[in-house]
Amino acid sequence: MSSVKLEQISRKFASNAAASEQRFIGVDDISLEIPDGEFWVLVGPSGCGKSTLLRIIAGLETATSGNIYIGDRLVNQVPARQRDVAMVFQNYALYPHMSVAENLAFGMQMRGMDKSTIERRVIDVAKSLQIDMLLDRKPKQLSGGQQQRVALGRAIARSPQVFLLDEPLSNLDAGLRDSTRAELKQLHQQVGITTIYVTHDCTEAMTLADRIVVLDRGYIKQIGTPDEIYHHPVDRMVATFIGSPPMNIIPAIYQNGIWQIGNSQIACPAELTSQLQLRSGQGLDLGIRAEYLTICPNSTPDALFATIRGIESQGRETLVKAQINGTSTNINLLATPNWIEKNSGESRTLLGKQLTIALSLEWLFIFDPSTGRKLFPR
Ligand code: ATP
Repeated sequence: MSSVKLEQISRKFASNAAASEQRFIGVDDISLEIPDGEFWVLVGPSGCGKSTLLRIIAGLETATSGNIYIGDRLVNQVPARQRDVAMVFQNYALYPHMSVAENLAFGMQMRGMDKSTIERRVIDVAKSLQIDMLLDRKPKQLSGGQQQRVALGRAIARSPQVFLLDEPLSNLDAGLRDSTRAELKQLHQQVGITTIYVTHDCTEAMTLADRIVVLDRGYIKQIGTPDEIYHHPVDRMVATFIGSPPMNIIPAIYQNGIWQIGNSQIACPAELTSQLQLRSGQGLDLGIRAEYLTICPNSTPDALFATIRGIESQGRETLVKAQINGTSTNINLLATPNWIEKNSGESRTLLGKQLTIALSLEWLFIFDPSTGRKLFPR
């Protein structure tokens, strides 16, 4: 086990055009320190540099500049196989001609471990991943989920200092993904190997991570615990990337003490007007999560008027999708499970119906509409 420290890591890719000096940014100026034994998740939209960063740590890609430390050791010049890291990709890459037991043993044999230790370790790892009944099978005789467990087991069996996982669950169907995710979390709690996990799935990030690193176009946007990132996003990009459903973004025009949103008007608290020095005619993006919007009686002041466009029952709660009247803005809000029953008994008949929606202003964010910078809270 070991900490991982990155100091100002950049990776620039040369353009294919020989005459061009253009360089594409893979990652830029990444500095972070992952304490020994923690589970960190790298998230961000496609092309933000997640895999490049992971490959640089693994030694499969060379940084253009910067330093990588695993524990106290500077590993910039250390080849991948001597870094003592294990990497698992989304395509399991098992050796097809070897049995599960042989796949699990392979890394340990390569490191010259003695036979009885290897045999014991294969059994232990196979039991912890519940693949001990599959040890004699070949990979093609396994389901996708079982193959992925073998790939994880092969990496764990080596007891690496660092575990690197690149979208390891993305090839699994939804049910298996949930159960394997839970097992992975449990496994990490048992073995405590420092883990860096790449995903574009924010639910995976929220449920697995000790800390989340949000990347955008090669840069770090924010590092924080799942709660910090969810409740205190640094800007609109993070606010809308993390959370399912994503934070609602409602464009508004400030006008003499009110926010005009299509046909709806909401009083802007006086202290916000002065704190943000709002000018009449100024556009703002109001950000609010689905759980802080409430369906309320028609006569409620300072409410949004919207039309129901969709309803998704999610068991414990109902996700209502609505369009704010007089705008093209769509929002998500949560209703209690019996809300449909109380209203009509059938979600289909509610489509097109009018809603009055109150906002909990204490959970409101305000973003600059052109840059996405957070204006409030500061
Ligand atoms: P995804 O979620 O789609 O897998 P990612 O966040 O893992 O994306 P990377 O694969 O790390 O993103 O790529 C980061 C950026 O670097 C992208 O713009 C990509 O096009 C670029 N890039 C990656 N590898 C190369 C390469 N070998 N040559 C040129 N550009 C590259």
